[in-house]
Amino acid sequence: MKIETQCLHEGYTPKNGEPRVVPIVQSTTYVYDSTKAVGDVFDDPTLSLIYSRFENPTTDAIEKKIAALEGGVAAMCTSSGQAASLISILNLCSAGDSFIAASTIYGGTINLFAVTLKKLGIECIFVNPDASDDELRKAFKPNTKCVFGETIANPALTVLDIEKFAKIAHEKGVPLIVDNTFATPVLCRPIEWGADIVIHSTSKYMDGHAVQVGGVIVDSGKFDFTNGNFPDFTEPDESYHGVVYTRDYAFAPFIVKARMQLMRDFGCYPAANSSFLLNLGLETLAVRMKQYCENALKIAKFFKEQDKIEEVIYPSLEGDKYYELAKKYVPMGSSGVISIVVKGGRDNAIKFMDALELASNEVHVADIRTCVLHPASATHRQLTDEQLVAAGINGGMIRFSCGLENVDDIIADIQKGLDAID
Ligand SMILES: *Cc1c(COP(=O)(O)O)cnc(C)c1O
Repeated sequence: MKIETQCLHEGYTPKNGEPRVVPIVQSTTYVYDSTKAVGDVFDDPTLSLIYSRFENPTTDAIEKKIAALEGGVAAMCTSSGQAASLISILNLCSAGDSFIAASTIYGGTINLFAVTLKKLGIECIFVNPDASDDELRKAFKPNTKCVFGETIANPALTVLDIEKFAKIAHEKGVPLIVDNTFATPVLCRPIEWGADIVIHSTSKYMDGHAVQVGGVIVDSGKFDFTNGNFPDFTEPDESYHGVVYTRDYAFAPFIVKARMQLMRDFGCYPAANSSFLLNLGLETLAVRMKQYCENALKIAKFFKEQDKIEEVIYPSLEGDKYYELAKKYVPMGSSGVISIVVKGGRDNAIKFMDALELASNEVHVADIRTCVLHPASATHRQLTDEQLVAAGINGGMIRFSCGLENVDDIIADIQKGLDAID
């Protein structure tokens, strides 16, 4: 199936007389006819359902759909993108370990990695996403357990050279995790370029309508966790009657371990109702992504012609620093998100934003409606000036997230913003 068809049909195939639409199974628990039957499910939880803290039939259908869209073997949804990032790292790293992350990643993720994980004894080593092979190799320590980056970084819009990062990670015997939130599997499938684990904030394009906060982790099933670096995968899990993930669940050890250990213990699983809403968004993801890219390219070109705009960052715009990487990894377009830097810094950025009428001023991105955000005073507020520079953020920077309104209406609104700047 092609991706438009997969968006509609993967994950759920009703049989005779069953609902056409994925049903909302709003139940915390699942019933069995005997104590033995319950015991059997505990022996092998992949056989059936136990409890909605870590699995649910509605969410299961959406997990299967997203795994198929990304070309992975299994997926697990989470209650937010933050939870997906957290669990993907904790599934590999314990206190005393380190991991490497591109410095341009999402501000919330930087905070999670640099502050909260540090308190848990896990060190994040930040690297420039444009680092050379050798610079990347040098960042590794003996205790480094994975590498993390974003396909298209939010909001710096750097494009990750996934093949390069995967090559070095694999040389060092660790998996590459890619946050594919902005690209979505419609524009890029990181697994095809060597990524081992793909995560998303489904709150963005996948949902697309700003109705649910969620995340997902996808397992490519390709990484060899028996290479000696991951004893938690190859030695018996005492918290789960001696299961050995690489032996007993060789098809998708990463996701089975994440679900049976971490989701069981943390319980950051989405409600069935949220998964139902996410699925409505996923059904139109492929058609929406094409239109976002078309609108964004026109708007990026418009911004480029304006004297009051110092810089336009849109990887698919000719001349962009990441144009060549964008052509390789996101040939259809680099999503609907554009970063602009307004001349006159922070003050003019705020004047521009406050004059917009159609575009919403809100803490969101990748929505069906055009929205704008000033990263330096919102999502990246917690970062030090040094971290802001490393994350590619400037005081005059505005993240402009093109919606699916008619592009002429969006441009007319931008004109109002430009007129408000002296
Ligand atoms: C928003 C976002 C996150 C965090 O996701 P939430 O669903 O808001 O928790 C992570 N990564 C990227 C790239 C994001 O844009």
